[in-house]
Amino acid sequence: MSHHLLRRLGDGARREALRRERLSPDADVELPAGSERGPAGSETLPITPSPSSKRRHEGCPSLDLPAVSEPLRIGVLAVQGNFREHAAMLRGLGAEAVEVRKPEQLEGLDGLVIPGGESTAFMRLMRLYGLDEAIRKFERPIFGTCAGMIVLDEEHLRLAHFRVRRNAFGRQVASFETDLAVDESVEPLRAVFIRAPWIEEVGPEMEVLAEVDGRPVLAREGRILVAAFHPELTDDTRVHELFLNQVREASSVRT
Ligand code: GLN
Repeated sequence: MSHHLLRRLGDGARREALRRERLSPDADVELPAGSERGPAGSETLPITPSPSSKRRHEGCPSLDLPAVSEPLRIGVLAVQGNFREHAAMLRGLGAEAVEVRKPEQLEGLDGLVIPGGESTAFMRLMRLYGLDEAIRKFERPIFGTCAGMIVLDEEHLRLAHFRVRRNAFGRQVASFETDLAVDESVEPLRAVFIRAPWIEEVGPEMEVLAEVDGRPVLAREGRILVAAFHPELTDDTRVHELFLNQVREASSVRT
């Protein structure tokens, strides 16, 4: 795929060190039934954004950013899960990240990220706040990671033609990491899987971008991008850049 979209990254050793520092084994805390937490749920990973990765992206020339006066406004669904890490990564890439907890906060956004967390809790909280309907009507690009991917499938919000299998790699295997071959010409993508789903059924319009053991784990259909893993937990920003490029393309079509 997309060697023009996923660029090479150097400095693998530093990335590796940062990644180890940031990865937590307790990432995916399942909420017991009836124990709803507030919109700013606390099931987030204890991860702080890396100042060095921010520095690296200041005025990053490899992004080929057009001379736009306003940054892209990207919403990050913030009812549960690790939304802060997505927001930090988006800000590091020059976007404005907006935490979304109410339907009206979707207005004026260029795109939306639905983070990882726990998909049953997501669905329950989205229904509670009327966000499920609002997200169904949202017409801009959406990027779902892990639980965020699950809620976009045909059995949930039905925003793309695919079906997932939850906890597909085995519930006992809480998390693992692997190098994903995305394209021969680019450095593999280091991917963190935490009680991850895989894509079980892929509709004809869906483009599979990466697989683990023959199971799709990174894919897109039109404006919808989905990842079974957690690109926000590594120092590799390429999947977010891919999404921002998608958003940029969609915005230029719109204007
Ligand atoms: N296992 C979770 C679910 O089924 C997803 C895990 C994650 O987002 N890290 O919702």
